Amino acid sequence: MEDCLFCRIASGEIGSKKAFEDDRVLAFYDINPAAPVHILIIPKQHIQSAYDLKEEDGALLGHMFEVAAKIAQEQGIAESGYRLVTNIGQAAGQSVPHLHLHLLGGRDLTWPPG
Ligand code: 5GP
Ligand code: ZN
Repeated sequence: MEDCLFCRIASGEIGSKKAFEDDRVLAFYDINPAAPVHILIIPKQHIQSAYDLKEEDGALLGHMFEVAAKIAQEQGIAESGYRLVTNIGQAAGQSVPHLHLHLLGGRDLTWPPG
């Protein structure tokens, strides 16, 4: 989608600090980190949010979680623990309408989130 920020990041039109990339997903450092490790994992195809996922997206979703695990390992937070979050819609604070997993770690995270 032309006017989607994360589609433009996925295509390389807008730069980002990459943590991982392959043909299906891109992971990049959040511009405004909420934890010592804060990386966003996105599908390269435009999906607005987790609300729009279909059963046939299962392999892509599994791949996103596997990429998250690999990054957590690389970042040294796999053992201590980390959080994967996806916001859906306005009340949850979704500010970019392109599916993304927040990978958060490197500190003790509180629960429940605000
Ligand atoms: P949301 O609020 O939609 O769950 O998460 C969007 C995230 O994208 C926020 O944490 C925000 O800091 C991050 N973000 C917004 N614009 C950019 C950008 O241009 N580059 C990067 N790296 N992160 C961004
Ligand atoms: Zn998009």
